[in-house]
Amino acid sequence: MSQPHEQRANETAREGREIQDKVEARESRSFKSDGEDKKAPPQTGARPYPTPPMSGKHLEKSGQEADLEQKPMWDAPYYKGSGKLQDKAALITGGDSGIGRAVAVLFAREGCDVAIAYLESDQDAQDTKAAIEKEGRKAILLKGDVSDPAFAEDAVAKAVDAFGKLDVLVNNAAFQQHADAIEDLDYQHFDRTLKTNLYGYFNMAKAAVPHLKPGAAIVNTGSETAFKATEELLDYSMTKGGIHSFTRALSASLVKKGVRVNAVAPGPVWTPLNPADRQGKDIEQFGAKTPMGRPAQPEEIAPAYVFLASPQTASFITGEILPVIGGY
Ligand code: NAD
Repeated sequence: MSQPHEQRANETAREGREIQDKVEARESRSFKSDGEDKKAPPQTGARPYPTPPMSGKHLEKSGQEADLEQKPMWDAPYYKGSGKLQDKAALITGGDSGIGRAVAVLFAREGCDVAIAYLESDQDAQDTKAAIEKEGRKAILLKGDVSDPAFAEDAVAKAVDAFGKLDVLVNNAAFQQHADAIEDLDYQHFDRTLKTNLYGYFNMAKAAVPHLKPGAAIVNTGSETAFKATEELLDYSMTKGGIHSFTRALSASLVKKGVRVNAVAPGPVWTPLNPADRQGKDIEQFGAKTPMGRPAQPEEIAPAYVFLASPQTASFITGEILPVIGGY
Protein backbone atom coordinates (compact mmCIF):
# COMPACT_ATOMS: atom_id res chain seq x y z
CA MET A 1 0.00 0.00 0.00
CA SER A 2 1.31 3.44 -0.84
CA GLN A 3 2.19 5.85 1.95
CA PRO A 4 -0.71 8.33 1.46
CA HIS A 5 -3.29 5.50 1.52
CA GLU A 6 -1.95 4.06 4.76
CA GLN A 7 -1.83 7.48 6.36
CA ARG A 8 -5.43 8.12 5.33
CA ALA A 9 -6.55 4.70 6.66
CA ASN A 10 -4.93 5.43 10.04
CA GLU A 11 -6.60 8.83 10.26
CA THR A 12 -10.01 7.32 9.39
CA ALA A 13 -9.57 4.58 12.01
CA ARG A 14 -8.56 7.19 14.62
CA GLU A 15 -11.59 9.31 13.70
CA GLY A 16 -13.81 6.25 14.20
CA ARG A 17 -12.46 5.83 17.74
CA GLU A 18 -12.93 9.55 18.44
CA ILE A 19 -16.60 9.33 17.39
CA GLN A 20 -17.05 6.18 19.47
CA ASP A 21 -15.54 7.86 22.55
CA LYS A 22 -17.85 10.88 22.21
CA VAL A 23 -20.98 8.73 21.88
CA GLU A 24 -19.98 6.46 24.76
CA ALA A 25 -19.20 9.42 26.99
CA ARG A 26 -22.63 10.87 26.22
CA GLU A 27 -24.31 7.53 26.83
CA SER A 28 -22.65 7.01 30.17
CA ARG A 29 -23.78 10.51 31.23
CA SER A 30 -27.40 9.84 30.24
CA PHE A 31 -27.24 6.36 31.80
CA LYS A 32 -26.13 7.97 35.07
CA SER A 33 -28.84 10.64 34.98
CA ASP A 34 -31.50 8.05 34.06
CA GLY A 35 -31.90 6.89 37.61
CA GLU A 36 -30.89 10.12 39.30
CA ASP A 37 -33.14 12.81 37.83
CA LYS A 38 -35.63 11.15 35.50
CA LYS A 39 -37.66 13.85 33.74
CA ALA A 40 -41.46 13.98 33.92
CA PRO A 41 -43.20 13.35 30.56
CA PRO A 42 -43.53 16.58 28.54
CA GLN A 43 -46.79 18.52 28.57
CA THR A 44 -47.89 19.51 25.10
CA GLY A 45 -51.54 20.45 25.57
CA ALA A 46 -53.75 23.45 26.24
CA ARG A 47 -54.01 22.17 29.80
CA PRO A 48 -51.90 19.64 31.72
CA TYR A 49 -52.71 15.96 31.23
CA PRO A 50 -52.19 13.12 33.71
CA THR A 51 -49.16 10.87 33.35
CA PRO A 52 -48.73 7.27 34.56
CA PRO A 53 -49.27 5.70 37.00
CA MET A 54 -52.94 5.83 36.03
CA SER A 55 -55.59 4.72 38.49
CA GLY A 56 -55.61 0.95 38.34
CA LYS A 57 -59.29 0.16 38.99
CA HIS A 58 -60.58 -2.68 36.81
CA LEU A 59 -64.09 -2.30 35.33
CA GLU A 60 -66.70 -4.90 34.56
CA LYS A 61 -67.67 -4.95 30.85
CA SER A 62 -69.04 -3.06 29.00
CA GLY A 63 -67.20 -0.45 31.05
CA GLN A 64 -69.05 2.56 32.41
CA GLU A 65 -67.19 5.88 32.44
CA ALA A 66 -69.10 6.94 35.56
CA ASP A 67 -67.39 4.04 37.41
CA LEU A 68 -63.85 5.05 36.48
CA GLU A 69 -61.86 6.26 39.47
CA GLN A 70 -59.73 8.54 37.31
CA LYS A 71 -62.14 10.45 35.07
CA PRO A 72 -61.30 10.90 31.39
CA MET A 73 -60.99 14.53 30.25
CA TRP A 74 -63.52 15.22 27.51
CA ASP A 75 -64.95 18.71 27.91
CA ALA A 76 -62.09 20.64 26.23
CA PRO A 77 -62.75 23.95 28.01
CA TYR A 78 -60.13 25.76 25.88
CA TYR A 79 -61.65 24.64 22.53
CA LYS A 80 -63.73 27.34 20.83
CA GLY A 81 -66.33 26.28 18.28
CA SER A 82 -66.50 28.15 14.97
CA GLY A 83 -69.49 26.64 13.15
CA LYS A 84 -67.47 23.94 11.38
CA LEU A 85 -70.53 21.63 11.53
CA GLN A 86 -73.20 24.32 11.72
CA ASP A 87 -76.75 22.92 11.55
CA LYS A 88 -75.57 19.46 10.61
CA ALA A 89 -76.76 16.17 12.09
CA ALA A 90 -74.47 13.35 13.22
CA LEU A 91 -74.85 9.81 14.52
CA ILE A 92 -72.01 8.52 16.72
CA THR A 93 -71.85 4.86 17.74
CA GLY A 94 -70.34 4.29 21.18
CA GLY A 95 -70.93 7.99 21.74
CA ASP A 96 -71.92 7.54 25.39
CA SER A 97 -68.36 7.44 26.72
CA GLY A 98 -64.67 7.80 25.99
CA ILE A 99 -63.64 9.10 22.58
CA GLY A 100 -67.24 9.06 21.32
CA ARG A 101 -68.40 11.35 24.13
CA ALA A 102 -65.62 13.88 23.48
CA VAL A 103 -66.45 13.82 19.76
CA ALA A 104 -70.15 14.35 20.53
CA VAL A 105 -69.36 17.39 22.66
CA LEU A 106 -67.05 19.02 20.09
CA PHE A 107 -69.51 18.29 17.27
CA ALA A 108 -72.23 20.04 19.30
CA ARG A 109 -69.86 22.96 20.01
CA GLU A 110 -69.36 23.23 16.24
CA GLY A 111 -73.15 23.53 15.74
CA CYS A 112 -74.22 19.91 15.15
CA ASP A 113 -77.15 17.88 16.55
CA VAL A 114 -76.03 14.46 17.74
CA ALA A 115 -77.60 11.01 18.00
CA ILE A 116 -75.75 8.61 20.28
CA ALA A 117 -75.91 4.84 19.75
CA TYR A 118 -74.74 2.84 22.76
CA LEU A 119 -74.85 -0.63 24.25
CA GLU A 120 -75.98 -0.37 27.88
CA SER A 121 -74.43 2.42 29.98
CA ASP A 122 -77.54 4.55 30.54
CA GLN A 123 -75.79 6.81 33.04
CA ASP A 124 -72.97 7.59 30.59
CA ALA A 125 -75.46 8.17 27.77
CA GLN A 126 -77.52 10.58 29.90
CA ASP A 127 -74.37 12.48 30.92
CA THR A 128 -73.33 12.84 27.26
CA LYS A 129 -76.83 13.94 26.25
CA ALA A 130 -76.73 16.63 28.94
CA ALA A 131 -73.29 17.78 27.72
CA ILE A 132 -74.55 18.09 24.11
CA GLU A 133 -77.60 20.06 25.27
CA LYS A 134 -75.35 22.32 27.32
CA GLU A 135 -73.66 23.25 24.03
CA GLY A 136 -77.10 24.33 22.76
CA ARG A 137 -77.76 21.40 20.39
CA LYS A 138 -80.28 18.53 20.23
CA ALA A 139 -79.36 15.04 21.37
CA ILE A 140 -81.12 11.69 21.12
CA LEU A 141 -80.12 8.37 22.67
CA LEU A 142 -80.40 5.07 20.81
CA LYS A 143 -79.75 1.97 22.89
CA GLY A 144 -78.95 -1.21 20.97
CA ASP A 145 -76.39 -3.52 19.44
CA VAL A 146 -74.62 -2.29 16.29
CA SER A 147 -73.92 -5.87 15.24
CA ASP A 148 -77.67 -6.28 14.68
CA PRO A 149 -78.55 -4.92 11.20
CA ALA A 150 -82.12 -4.24 12.35
CA PHE A 151 -80.81 -1.93 15.10
CA ALA A 152 -78.54 -0.13 12.62
CA GLU A 153 -81.51 0.52 10.30
CA ASP A 154 -83.66 1.64 13.20
CA ALA A 155 -80.95 3.93 14.69
CA VAL A 156 -80.40 5.70 11.37
CA ALA A 157 -84.16 6.04 10.78
CA LYS A 158 -84.64 7.55 14.25
CA ALA A 159 -81.79 10.03 13.78
CA VAL A 160 -83.16 11.13 10.40
CA ASP A 161 -86.61 11.41 11.93
CA ALA A 162 -85.35 13.54 14.85
CA PHE A 163 -83.05 15.86 12.87
CA GLY A 164 -84.60 15.72 9.39
CA LYS A 165 -81.35 14.44 7.81
CA LEU A 166 -78.00 12.79 8.43
CA ASP A 167 -74.71 14.49 7.50
CA VAL A 168 -72.08 12.62 9.49
CA LEU A 169 -71.76 9.01 10.65
CA VAL A 170 -69.04 8.25 13.20
CA ASN A 171 -68.44 4.50 13.52
CA ASN A 172 -66.76 4.16 16.89
CA ALA A 173 -68.33 1.35 19.01
CA ALA A 174 -65.94 -1.47 19.83
CA PHE A 175 -65.33 -4.65 21.79
CA GLN A 176 -61.81 -5.30 23.09
CA GLN A 177 -60.74 -8.16 25.35
CA HIS A 178 -57.17 -9.44 25.38
CA ALA A 179 -56.21 -13.13 25.23
CA ASP A 180 -52.70 -14.39 25.96
CA ALA A 181 -52.56 -16.85 23.05
CA ILE A 182 -54.59 -17.99 20.08
CA GLU A 183 -55.43 -21.15 22.06
CA ASP A 184 -57.20 -18.95 24.63
CA LEU A 185 -59.24 -17.08 22.04
CA ASP A 186 -62.47 -19.06 21.73
CA TYR A 187 -65.10 -18.63 19.02
CA GLN A 188 -67.51 -16.71 21.22
CA HIS A 189 -64.80 -14.15 21.99
CA PHE A 190 -63.55 -13.96 18.38
CA ASP A 191 -67.10 -13.66 17.08
CA ARG A 192 -68.08 -10.88 19.53
CA THR A 193 -65.04 -8.81 18.50
CA LEU A 194 -65.64 -9.23 14.78
CA LYS A 195 -69.41 -8.79 15.06
CA THR A 196 -69.06 -5.49 16.95
CA ASN A 197 -66.03 -3.98 15.26
CA LEU A 198 -66.53 -5.10 11.65
CA TYR A 199 -70.19 -6.07 11.17
CA GLY A 200 -71.18 -3.09 13.33
CA TYR A 201 -69.32 -0.62 11.09
CA PHE A 202 -70.68 -2.30 7.97
CA ASN A 203 -74.27 -2.34 9.27
CA MET A 204 -74.19 1.31 10.24
CA ALA A 205 -72.62 2.44 6.96
CA LYS A 206 -75.07 0.36 4.93
CA ALA A 207 -78.02 1.90 6.77
CA ALA A 208 -76.64 5.47 6.62
CA VAL A 209 -75.37 5.73 3.05
CA PRO A 210 -78.80 6.09 1.37
CA HIS A 211 -79.36 9.23 3.50
CA LEU A 212 -75.97 10.88 2.90
CA LYS A 213 -75.91 13.79 0.46
CA PRO A 214 -72.88 15.42 -1.25
CA GLY A 215 -70.74 17.07 1.43
CA ALA A 216 -71.57 14.36 4.01
CA ALA A 217 -68.86 12.34 5.75
CA ILE A 218 -68.19 9.06 7.49
CA VAL A 219 -65.43 8.96 10.10
CA ASN A 220 -64.39 5.52 11.35
CA THR A 221 -62.35 4.82 14.46
CA GLY A 222 -59.39 2.63 13.60
CA SER A 223 -56.38 2.12 15.84
CA GLU A 224 -52.61 2.12 15.94
CA THR A 225 -52.93 -1.61 16.72
CA ALA A 226 -53.64 -1.99 13.00
CA PHE A 227 -50.10 -0.75 12.24
CA LYS A 228 -48.29 -2.33 15.19
CA ALA A 229 -48.77 -5.98 16.02
CA THR A 230 -50.31 -6.43 19.48
CA GLU A 231 -49.90 -10.11 20.31
CA GLU A 232 -52.58 -10.19 22.99
CA LEU A 233 -55.11 -8.39 20.78
CA LEU A 234 -55.10 -10.77 17.83
CA ASP A 235 -58.81 -10.48 17.04
CA TYR A 236 -59.08 -6.76 17.87
CA SER A 237 -55.99 -5.86 15.78
CA MET A 238 -57.45 -7.86 12.92
CA THR A 239 -60.68 -5.83 13.05
CA LYS A 240 -58.83 -2.52 13.23
CA GLY A 241 -56.79 -3.45 10.13
CA GLY A 242 -60.11 -4.36 8.50
CA ILE A 243 -61.56 -0.96 9.46
CA HIS A 244 -58.64 0.82 7.80
CA SER A 245 -59.17 -1.17 4.59
CA PHE A 246 -62.94 -0.69 4.81
CA THR A 247 -62.32 3.06 5.05
CA ARG A 248 -60.17 3.12 1.91
CA ALA A 249 -62.48 0.89 -0.12
CA LEU A 250 -65.68 2.65 0.90
CA SER A 251 -64.11 6.05 0.20
CA ALA A 252 -63.37 4.96 -3.36
CA SER A 253 -66.99 4.07 -4.01
CA LEU A 254 -68.63 6.97 -2.13
CA VAL A 255 -66.45 9.71 -3.60
CA LYS A 256 -68.70 9.56 -6.67
CA LYS A 257 -71.62 10.56 -4.44
CA GLY A 258 -69.62 13.42 -2.91
CA VAL A 259 -69.39 11.58 0.42
CA ARG A 260 -65.98 11.43 2.11
CA VAL A 261 -64.84 8.48 4.25
CA ASN A 262 -61.84 8.71 6.57
CA ALA A 263 -60.58 7.15 9.79
CA VAL A 264 -58.84 8.31 12.94
CA ALA A 265 -56.31 5.81 14.31
CA PRO A 266 -55.80 6.63 18.00
CA GLY A 267 -52.94 5.45 20.18
CA PRO A 268 -53.62 4.75 23.87
CA VAL A 269 -56.49 6.90 25.18
CA TRP A 270 -57.78 7.08 28.73
CA THR A 271 -61.36 5.72 28.43
CA PRO A 272 -63.27 2.79 30.00
CA LEU A 273 -62.14 0.45 27.17
CA ASN A 274 -58.77 -0.59 28.65
CA PRO A 275 -59.76 -0.65 32.33
CA ALA A 276 -62.59 -2.97 31.18
CA ASP A 277 -60.05 -5.19 29.42
CA ARG A 278 -56.93 -5.28 31.60
CA GLN A 279 -56.55 -5.95 35.30
CA GLY A 280 -55.85 -2.86 37.38
CA LYS A 281 -52.10 -3.35 37.81
CA ASP A 282 -51.68 -3.75 34.03
CA ILE A 283 -53.22 -0.39 33.24
CA GLU A 284 -51.23 1.65 35.74
CA GLN A 285 -48.53 2.14 33.09
CA PHE A 286 -51.06 2.56 30.27
CA GLY A 287 -49.63 4.93 27.64
CA ALA A 288 -46.21 5.19 29.31
CA LYS A 289 -44.47 3.72 26.25
CA THR A 290 -45.59 6.48 23.86
CA PRO A 291 -42.96 9.13 23.06
CA MET A 292 -45.20 11.51 25.07
CA GLY A 293 -44.88 9.15 28.04
CA ARG A 294 -48.62 9.15 28.74
CA PRO A 295 -52.00 8.18 27.26
CA ALA A 296 -54.08 10.75 25.38
CA GLN A 297 -57.26 12.09 26.95
CA PRO A 298 -60.43 11.86 24.78
CA GLU A 299 -60.51 15.65 24.27
CA GLU A 300 -57.11 15.43 22.55
CA ILE A 301 -58.44 12.93 19.98
CA ALA A 302 -61.83 14.53 19.26
CA PRO A 303 -60.55 17.52 17.18
CA ALA A 304 -59.31 15.04 14.54
CA TYR A 305 -62.93 13.90 14.06
CA VAL A 306 -64.13 17.49 13.70
CA PHE A 307 -61.39 18.09 11.13
CA LEU A 308 -62.31 15.01 9.05
CA ALA A 309 -66.08 15.50 9.38
CA SER A 310 -66.21 19.17 8.41
CA PRO A 311 -66.49 20.19 4.74
CA GLN A 312 -64.73 23.42 5.74
CA THR A 313 -61.52 21.67 6.77
CA ALA A 314 -61.36 18.34 4.92
CA SER A 315 -63.25 18.81 1.62
CA PHE A 316 -60.36 17.32 -0.40
CA ILE A 317 -59.56 14.51 2.03
CA THR A 318 -61.01 11.04 1.64
CA GLY A 319 -59.75 7.49 2.19
CA GLU A 320 -57.16 8.64 4.73
CA ILE A 321 -56.19 7.13 8.06
CA LEU A 322 -55.12 9.86 10.49
CA PRO A 323 -52.90 8.54 13.31
CA VAL A 324 -53.19 10.42 16.61
CA ILE A 325 -50.71 8.37 18.58
CA GLY A 326 -48.39 10.68 20.50
CA GLY A 327 -45.42 10.33 18.16
CA TYR A 328 -43.22 7.64 16.63
P1 NAD B 1 -65.41 3.26 25.31
O1 NAD B 1 -65.53 2.02 26.10
O2 NAD B 1 -65.64 4.55 26.00
O3 NAD B 1 -66.34 3.21 24.04
C1 NAD B 1 -66.74 2.02 23.42
C2 NAD B 1 -68.22 2.14 23.20
O4 NAD B 1 -68.67 1.10 22.36
C3 NAD B 1 -69.04 2.04 24.46
O5 NAD B 1 -69.47 3.31 24.74
C4 NAD B 1 -70.21 1.12 24.13
O6 NAD B 1 -71.44 1.77 24.31
C5 NAD B 1 -70.03 0.89 22.66
N1 NAD B 1 -70.34 -0.49 22.27
C6 NAD B 1 -69.64 -1.62 22.54
N2 NAD B 1 -70.25 -2.67 21.98
C7 NAD B 1 -71.34 -2.21 21.34
C8 NAD B 1 -72.38 -2.80 20.59
N3 NAD B 1 -72.39 -4.13 20.34
N4 NAD B 1 -73.37 -2.02 20.10
C9 NAD B 1 -73.38 -0.68 20.35
N5 NAD B 1 -72.42 -0.06 21.05
C10 NAD B 1 -71.41 -0.81 21.53
O7 NAD B 1 -63.94 3.22 24.69
P2 NAD B 1 -63.17 4.17 23.67
O8 NAD B 1 -61.75 3.93 23.97
O9 NAD B 1 -63.71 5.52 23.65
O10 NAD B 1 -63.46 3.45 22.28
C11 NAD B 1 -63.92 4.16 21.15
C12 NAD B 1 -63.19 3.66 19.94
O11 NAD B 1 -61.80 4.00 20.02
C13 NAD B 1 -63.22 2.16 19.70
O12 NAD B 1 -63.43 1.91 18.32
C14 NAD B 1 -61.85 1.70 20.10
O13 NAD B 1 -61.48 0.53 19.44
C15 NAD B 1 -61.04 2.88 19.64
N6 NAD B 1 -59.70 3.01 20.21
C16 NAD B 1 -59.53 3.18 21.54
C17 NAD B 1 -58.25 3.29 22.04
C18 NAD B 1 -58.01 3.48 23.51
O14 NAD B 1 -56.86 3.36 23.95
N7 NAD B 1 -59.01 3.78 24.31
C19 NAD B 1 -57.14 3.23 21.17
C20 NAD B 1 -57.35 3.06 19.81
C21 NAD B 1 -58.64 2.95 19.33
